[in-house]
Amino acid sequence: MTLAGKRALVTGASRGIGAAIAKALAAEGADVAITYEKSADSAARVVDAIKAGGRKAVAIQADSADVAAVQASVEKTVAALGGLDILVNNAGILRLGGLNDISLGDIDALLNVNVRSPIVASKAALRHLGKGGRIITIGSDFADRVPSPVLGVYAASKSALAAFTKALAREVGPRDVTVNLIQPGSIDTDMNPASGPTAETLKQFMALGRYGATDDIANAVAFLASAKAKYITGSTLTVDGGANA
Ligand code: NDP
Repeated sequence: MTLAGKRALVTGASRGIGAAIAKALAAEGADVAITYEKSADSAARVVDAIKAGGRKAVAIQADSADVAAVQASVEKTVAALGGLDILVNNAGILRLGGLNDISLGDIDALLNVNVRSPIVASKAALRHLGKGGRIITIGSDFADRVPSPVLGVYAASKSALAAFTKALAREVGPRDVTVNLIQPGSIDTDMNPASGPTAETLKQFMALGRYGATDDIANAVAFLASAKAKYITGSTLTVDGGANA
């Protein structure tokens, strides 16, 4: 077990990639808090699965678009788990539309959930992270290659995370806290189902020709969270089956 004794917060972990990350960190020995927006039942199932494996787990309702809720989720994690060693900024939303079509409401939602929330959560977490602390954020390979104009604002929100990751890595490096970004490609979840209408098109970009599984991202997070990755910081790890190759 590479994470025994560690305390982690994973945002947006009631379903999809976040749920897999929470379970993977727990499987490596971490106690885990998760946030969710609406899916209380799914969040409870993730918590039950982690507890069944012998780790502490807690689900916190916190809308990532709400600054106060994001800040409070960090403090609730510390209260429940006794501290915080690993923050995983995973919660994210997808809204599609070129600039002619996308609404100001969707633009705000994308920026608030995908960009402001990881920044605010990281700022709150830094009060608690000690030597060996970890901040891992989930971006998207669309940050580097944007195959459709309807992805513009989503891709912009994800590319902001790359610059943020590099700057924060420099800021907290002297404290021996690492900060990294994982950029998934198409992963089979509710957001991007492998059976969805754009799946066949997306598969054509991939060197491996198939969708990834949530565990493909969770395993990368577990590695970056571990001491094995102690010299990796300010980095972007793309896990996309070669879609951007
Ligand atoms: P899903 O839509 O399947 O799951 C999203 C999760 O985030 C749910 O647990 C959801 O909670 C939570 N969430 C959504 N909005 C909020 C919010 N406002 N506040 C709190 N929690 C929220 O997404 P994925 O698992 O596919 O995506 C996870 C991350 O990976 C995102 O950042 C996404 O951009 C990124 N990504 C995904 C890719 C893919 O192909 N799937 C590709 C590249 C990046 P609830 O259940 O309560 O709604």
